[in-house]
Amino acid sequence: MSILILSDVHSNIDALDAVLRDADARAPIDAVWCLGDIVGYGAHPGAVIASLSGAGVLAVAGNHDRAACGLLPTDEFNGVAAAAIEWTTAVLTDDQSAWLAALPLTAISGGFTLAHGSIRAPEWEYLLDEEAADAQFERQTTPYSLVGHSHLPFVVRESATSRFELPDAGTTVDLASERLIINPGSAGQPRDRDPRASYVLYDEAGATVSWHRTEYDIAATQRAIIDAGLPPFLASRLAEGR
Ligand code: ZN
Repeated sequence: MSILILSDVHSNIDALDAVLRDADARAPIDAVWCLGDIVGYGAHPGAVIASLSGAGVLAVAGNHDRAACGLLPTDEFNGVAAAAIEWTTAVLTDDQSAWLAALPLTAISGGFTLAHGSIRAPEWEYLLDEEAADAQFERQTTPYSLVGHSHLPFVVRESATSRFELPDAGTTVDLASERLIINPGSAGQPRDRDPRASYVLYDEAGATVSWHRTEYDIAATQRAIIDAGLPPFLASRLAEGR
């Protein structure tokens, strides 16, 4: 089994298509797991939902997904994010909105717990420091957990002293050794100054996870954001990976 793990697609269909192609070229994909923020920011929420639901994705909800379908108020989002959520809510069909509303906040599959931000606070927590990592390991009933939300690819080893490692593209980590927290980075809006779409492949037979990056048509994605009347910063940031 080869499982594609991705997060924070954010209505970026060009990035999602590129990730699906790139992953499948490395190893035929048997399943797709998504850590939320499927929509928000980008111009193609319906196409992204259709692609992921068509692939039979196992997905959890992110804060943008919950807000776009009316389960979270937009007043806790910054102005640019809130504007994009309002635009997204207006273009979603009833079926697409219901699909988002049905996503759970956490899920467990094959030794992994999936959550958008963290198990402690799935919608909002940025799991980026030692205290948050400790809280995650305490709540983690599975050997491994998967989070997104920060748009930063990382791995945290339970025993390591310097715990947040930032894996370069091509890094492979052996699952056998110890409990881990894994972030695949963001497919649709990377924020680690590398604009390429980020994802993780889980090789079940080999018991490894590996991080990968792939280029996509950023210019076309930016044009779609501008043409949709979304805030221009949502287009410009994609080229800078921030
Ligand atoms: Zn996000």
